[in-house]
Amino acid sequence: MSTAIWKALAEAAPLLSVDLDGVLAHLTEVSLAVVNSHFGTDFTSDQIRHYWLSEAIGVEPAAYLDTWFKSGSHYADLPADPVGVAVVRQAKREGREVWIASDRPADALPFSAQWLRRHGVPYDRLLMRPGIKDEIAKSERHVVFLDDDPFKAQDLIGPTTELVLIRRPWTNIAERDGLRIVDTWGQVCDALGVGYPSLSDLVNTRID
Ligand SMILES: [Mg+2]
Repeated sequence: MSTAIWKALAEAAPLLSVDLDGVLAHLTEVSLAVVNSHFGTDFTSDQIRHYWLSEAIGVEPAAYLDTWFKSGSHYADLPADPVGVAVVRQAKREGREVWIASDRPADALPFSAQWLRRHGVPYDRLLMRPGIKDEIAKSERHVVFLDDDPFKAQDLIGPTTELVLIRRPWTNIAERDGLRIVDTWGQVCDALGVGYPSLSDLVNTRID
């Protein structure tokens, strides 16, 4: 197909709004290590049965983490999911518009931009503040959100918006119109309408 046709197809495809924590970055695992180190607990991510950590690990450790979440700089140093990164690269290669949107505090933006650069994640816009995804959902654009928060199904799905939800131990909802629940990056690609990243793309991902 000609470049013009590819461009037209890409323009017709929905905007992809990709979450960071629990999707491209392993925040839960690092958070639990921080809590375990401070409180002498032994939480692991497969024990976490509620998206909100105050419900899952107790109020005091969750409050300790809340302060840690607000500090900003640790977002620059989270481990990345290399396949997730490769999927975003593939989407951009296919001409898709990709926004990275996160409920992290706005102060975390420069550290997040540093992280995205370090891991070679391409994107068109980086948007960061609590509630930003709701604003995107109200824009009346055709958007597919990729997220790990089941509560986003209440907030983000609408006439022009869909949610692809990565299943985690805390996922407690079922698929319905506008909501696809996925277990593998291959299913993410299928749900987003993006081709699979090549092996050469995966092996050229930074070792972290
Ligand atoms: Mg998340």
